Parts: sequence; C-alpha cells; structure tokens
Amino acid sequence: MVSSVAGPEIERLIQLLARLPGLGPRSARRAALHLIKKREALMTPLAAALQVAIDKIEVCGTCGNIDTQNPCTVCTDARRDPSIIVVVTDVADLWALERAHAVNGLYHVLGGTLSPLDGVGPQDLTIDALVRRAHDPRVGEIILALNATVDGQTTAHYITDLLQDADVRITRLAHGVPVGGELDYLDEGTLSAAMRQRTLF
Ligand code: ZN
Repeated sequence: MVSSVAGPEIERLIQLLARLPGLGPRSARRAALHLIKKREALMTPLAAALQVAIDKIEVCGTCGNIDTQNPCTVCTDARRDPSIIVVVTDVADLWALERAHAVNGLYHVLGGTLSPLDGVGPQDLTIDALVRRAHDPRVGEIILALNATVDGQTTAHYITDLLQDADVRITRLAHGVPVGGELDYLDEGTLSAAMRQRTLF
C-alpha cells in the first residue's frame, strides 16, 4: 500500500486536482503544494471564485454558452452581427474562437457531435433549437465550425440537410495547411483537402 505524505484533507485536495484535465497525480501534487504555500494570495481567492461560480454559473438558454448571466454576454452584446451564427461542438470551441477574435457573430453550442457508435443521436444535441434559430429572418449565414473528424463532418452534413428550407447561406471552416505549417509534415488527408480547397491568390 502506498503511504500518504499528508493528512486526509490534503490528500483529498490532491485527488480532486488530479481529476482536472491535463493534470496527472504528479502535477496535482505540485499544484496542491503551490496552493498551500500561497494560501492567502491564491488559495483563498480561488476558493471564493469557485464558490461564486457554483452559485452563479448558468447555461445560456439561447446559444448554450456558459456564463453568469442568461442570455449570456455574447448573446446580449449589441455590437455583434446577429446575421451570423457560428455552430460549435462545445463551449471550449466557442471560447477558442473568441480568443482568436475569429468572427463577430453569435454562436450555437451543439453539446457534442452525432456519434452512432457512442449512442449520440440528434435528440441528444441542440439541433432542433439551431433549426429554429436559422429560420429567424435576421439570420443570413450559418457557419459550421465543427471538428474535422468523421463525427464532426457527419454532424455538419446532417445539419446542412435539415437547413435546406431555411433562407441561409451555410458555410464551414476550411480544411488545410495550418498557419506556420510545413507541407512535408502534413498527413495525406490534410494535404489533399488543402489542395481541393485552394483559393485564388
Ligand atoms: Zn448565449
């Protein structure tokens, strides 16, 4: 049996930290030690921030983003272009696009991708709500910003079929050479997609 270095309270803290994505038991131990050393400067404000999050965080009833207000900050931002809806799999993708300042439209979080093997069907995602939003006369373009995986592309095709009678342009992200990428290192699928989707220079 592995013996504990610390009392049960600290062991519990380490175990909980180890459940965070990207943290294994070793980094969790280091993070716990760091928190304990910085108790006043870090641990107390972190605990307070977590409590506020527990009390206040809601899922936006319009787009599925996570925020402390519903509708969320993105949906209520008057500077955004309401004619564009960017469809993403997960809140993490929404936040990634926002960090990149990639687009100034609104979003729709699906909550996953269609995956028959994992038993994820259309009823498990927010596809019905997306179809309703796409029929809003203010909406002119639906951007499918889904993963370039089989499930992501299956989902994109499924949504495109459902939106046939909506008066919107349906676009998707380009597939191809990443910024700073070297051709020699790309896989064949990426290279051929980049060649097919070449643009005028
Ligand atoms: Zn929202």
